[in-house]
Amino acid sequence: MANPTECDLEAFFREELLKRYALKKSVLLPKEQYDKIIAELTATDTSAKKTPHEYYLLKKYEVLKCGDVLKLIRRRNANEEPIYFAKLEDTYDIIKRAHIATGHGGRDKMVKELTKKYANITHDAISIYKSLCIECQRKRKRPTTKGTVVRPILTKNFGSRSQVDIIDMQSMKQGNYKWIMVYLDHLTKFCVLRPLTSKRAAEVAYHLLNIFLLLGAPEILE
Ligand SMILES: [Zn+2]
Repeated sequence: MANPTECDLEAFFREELLKRYALKKSVLLPKEQYDKIIAELTATDTSAKKTPHEYYLLKKYEVLKCGDVLKLIRRRNANEEPIYFAKLEDTYDIIKRAHIATGHGGRDKMVKELTKKYANITHDAISIYKSLCIECQRKRKRPTTKGTVVRPILTKNFGSRSQVDIIDMQSMKQGNYKWIMVYLDHLTKFCVLRPLTSKRAAEVAYHLLNIFLLLGAPEILE
């Protein structure tokens, strides 16, 4: 079973995608929309005169029967491998699989892997996932210490040691938000995320204070 942190991350990820979907109906397909398109496509009478909407759907999509399940794929020519449309709700797991399969690969590696099979996994979604991967964040932070022994930091209690990171999201800002502040409890890996408009000390301090009031202040803050 996924640990609570994983669930938090998935929930955060889904929220972010839903926010984007609400702003701009894009290639993302929430389950409801996905099922609706399949229902429309299967109800379309191919011999009758089609509405412009039906033309649009038939040009873009195809329904693939996999056992008892109907799947939405990109309209293809005969003998072409199916390229699947993913439901928004499944996107996290799909990206996660590709991320692990590529050995915590970067965005380009993942894009390459995912476009082989999926039609609507956005670069944006991949970047969000990548920014949330704790393993990747840890790797990025790790200094190159060739030849020296790294002594692990031992922490006994929740709240005794925490760290704060700020992730640069300037290339895909949301409104005024350009940064994500990640507050991590060292022992439990309990993590709090906050959107930031800037890296100004006052703004960071404001959020830190808020987190301290919620969880208590740590003895050591990195
Ligand atoms: Zn990773």
